[in-house]
Amino acid sequence: MAKTYKEIMAEARTLVPELAPAEVKQKLDRGEKPVLLDVREKEEYRDGHLEGALSLPRGFLEIRVEEAVPDHSTPIVAYCAGGTRSLIAARTLREMGYANVISMSGGFTGWKNAGLPFATDRQWTQEQATRYSRHFLLPEVGEAGQAKLLDAKVLLIGAGGLGSPTAFYLAAAGVGTIGLVDHDVVDLSNLQRQILHTNDRIGMPKVDSAELTLKALNPDVKVVKFQERLSAENVRRIFEGFDIIVNGCDNFPTRYLVNDACVFMNKPLVDGSIFQFEGQASVFYPKKGPCYRCLFPEPPPPGAAPSCAEAGVLGVLPGLVGCVQALETIKLILGAGKPLIGRMIQFDTMSMDVRILKLRRDPNCVVCGDHPTVTDLIDYEGFCSGVPSSNGAGNGADHPAEQSESPRPHA
Ligand SMILES: [Zn+2]
Repeated sequence: MAKTYKEIMAEARTLVPELAPAEVKQKLDRGEKPVLLDVREKEEYRDGHLEGALSLPRGFLEIRVEEAVPDHSTPIVAYCAGGTRSLIAARTLREMGYANVISMSGGFTGWKNAGLPFATDRQWTQEQATRYSRHFLLPEVGEAGQAKLLDAKVLLIGAGGLGSPTAFYLAAAGVGTIGLVDHDVVDLSNLQRQILHTNDRIGMPKVDSAELTLKALNPDVKVVKFQERLSAENVRRIFEGFDIIVNGCDNFPTRYLVNDACVFMNKPLVDGSIFQFEGQASVFYPKKGPCYRCLFPEPPPPGAAPSCAEAGVLGVLPGLVGCVQALETIKLILGAGKPLIGRMIQFDTMSMDVRILKLRRDPNCVVCGDHPTVTDLIDYEGFCSGVPSSNGAGNGADHPAEQSESPRPHA
């Protein structure tokens, strides 16, 4: 006869003893060593678990428990998030002949709320342990750093010249969530440099092509696709869930939009741009260094800075700059090394001159200065086409110092 959920739970409670978190803690403090069986999903386990707990998600319980706990007389304390899944799991274990099983009422949430100690170290699959083994060997990365990479959420503006190498290497390194904003489809003329895409994907949305490539490289990576043109209307929604923004855009309105949104939303921006044979990259970190507008308060006059489609761009160059962006992103995630905050690297690929420019935050910057006059998103198309916007953003003050050369907008 069919049973309701309530009946199943009530029956389980008659079969399975329950202990509150504090009572389980007392057991452990007395030196008892039950198997602490965490039946939550892997993702829940990674976020925090009882020290030494065995992770065996409920869905795999019957299949794997006999391998993990061969002796049916072993004392087991099963727990989940709130005490429901573990009660059902404990009942199942009893049916399988495990005689000494209890369920922790209140679950891990109750344990945490009672202020009891827990561990947050990550469980690696065999595949992950092998995949990231060269990272594990580096003390600057290690298992803790790899966990940070897998937890990181990085948004790439553009799945083109710069976005391709950046996304490729971030996926390879195990950055867990990669967002891609690109409204375009793959064109044959892209393939000279946009290495995420392939000949057989011409006409396919770039975000879809990129997802295929990145998932094929590393199934750990979650790709979040935004097949839309970034605008003042959608930028907050799109940026919201991400920790770091990587710029691979190819036009001035988007470049100023991305900069301002990062300042307003307090998100680090890993910037890069390329033009013909030259490229540059920097990290614009709100409150820690300058923003793009500190360097380039005003866009160049319309038509003064031709696009890649008009002026051409050397293949490989975006690879160079995109790899710097990927590296800087990884450094920010790990908190390792000295990121390019307040510095800009410039490459001239023909002479192979590489320069590092020092950049200063401009206290008079209209968005990140001491008295900002632009405090919300503006009409960027109008701003970049020379039409003054209503709040005066188009009438920027003279720049106090020539810190760099002309803006390089192109990707
Ligand atoms: Zn600024």
